[in-house]
Amino acid sequence: MISLNVKMVKCKRCGIEDLVWDMEYNTNTGNWRLWNPSTEMPHKCEAVKPPKPEKVVPCPHYPCEKRMPKTKLQEHIKTEHLGFY
Ligand SMILES: [Zn+2]
Ligand SMILES: [Zn+2]
Repeated sequence: MISLNVKMVKCKRCGIEDLVWDMEYNTNTGNWRLWNPSTEMPHKCEAVKPPKPEKVVPCPHYPCEKRMPKTKLQEHIKTEHLGFY
């Protein structure tokens, strides 16, 4: 029998509603996790994706050839190679 006083909660991270706190999991582990009753699976934050890793490029200055994200390369050239590209 499904208890009717289970409080529906909304995931603060991805905004998905109609989740419940997993009481059984808490009893077993002492931790809380969200449970998705519609899929009968623990809730996973699928809306939150890790940021894409930046493209890493090698420094064009031989023999430096340090590899770094493209956004850092310009700064690196400016400080390490006196602004000459
Ligand atoms: Zn979530
Ligand atoms: Zn360099």
